[in-house]
Amino acid sequence: MSLIIHSKKGLYCPIAKVYIDPWRKVDNALITHGHSDHARHGHKFYVCAEPSVPILKHRLGLNINIRGLAYGETLVVNGVKFSFHPAGHITGSAQIRVEHKGEIWVASGDYKREDDGLCTPYEVVRCHHFITECTFGLPIYQWRPQEEIIEEIKSWWSQNAAIGITSVITAYSLGKAQRIIHSLGSEIGPFYTHETIEKMNTVYRGSGISLPRTQKISESLSHNQVKKALIITPGAAIGKQWPKSIRDYRIGMASGWMALKNNRKRRGADKGFVLSDHCDWVGLNNSISDSGATHIYPTHGNTQIFSKWLNEQGYNAKPIETHYGSAEDKDGQLS
Ligand SMILES: [Zn+2]
Ligand SMILES: [Zn+2]
Repeated sequence: MSLIIHSKKGLYCPIAKVYIDPWRKVDNALITHGHSDHARHGHKFYVCAEPSVPILKHRLGLNINIRGLAYGETLVVNGVKFSFHPAGHITGSAQIRVEHKGEIWVASGDYKREDDGLCTPYEVVRCHHFITECTFGLPIYQWRPQEEIIEEIKSWWSQNAAIGITSVITAYSLGKAQRIIHSLGSEIGPFYTHETIEKMNTVYRGSGISLPRTQKISESLSHNQVKKALIITPGAAIGKQWPKSIRDYRIGMASGWMALKNNRKRRGADKGFVLSDHCDWVGLNNSISDSGATHIYPTHGNTQIFSKWLNEQGYNAKPIETHYGSAEDKDGQLS
């Protein structure tokens, strides 16, 4: 039997009787990161990387039974060694390494290769079997450096501010929003945030991560306060509880999906910024090669096409049907 198998509740290690990012309720769940498709309610016991603990508690309840492991720390269960290694996706995100009798598996969760300056950067973990996401597993997805995208956002924000137009950026509430706030800084104007983002900012700050000053959007803000502001909100909450003083605004969307022009138009954005917390095509291929794995299992994204491509490159690749791939992966809009 394989060290990790696909079961109806999730990825499962039968020897240790633990699940990785299970989508049904289980006793023992190892969680790669706090996004809702990977960290679900109702498990009896959670284990995650230490920086993920406050995020999981915030999302799943303060009374969950949870243990955090430092990156690289080993947990042994029935002879199987488990450890968490930085995935570079969002704060606290981890690849889970599983070793038994010399055989090594890695479950990537979601990951990206670029250092975003906020979360611990991706670490290459050598293994024989690599379970990988492939959200952007097509050659059309190739990212430009974060620095360039942030400059694009800054100049768009400055131009709007100069003529008294409020800028609005849509981003999901865990990870992307904080990444944008952190890398933009507040020289151009103040940040106002949707409630779910502001609460998450508080969790980040509580863990010792410093972010520029942000404030929850409220109906009482004056035109003077908002005319140079940048509002960060999940796409679904545009316009909700906004002050009447916002007379004119422009919407920018920050997501990997903005690489396709149609997506921007379809979602009603004035401007698309191609900024993703996932790997692009090159990042995925490099990571698979860097892992040294011969057996690859794509979990979410274009898994069939990506597996076919990998098989052509000489890997032994087979997609695994999972329940991963939430709105967070799909369009970066919801909380
Ligand atoms: Zn994620
Ligand atoms: Zn995911």
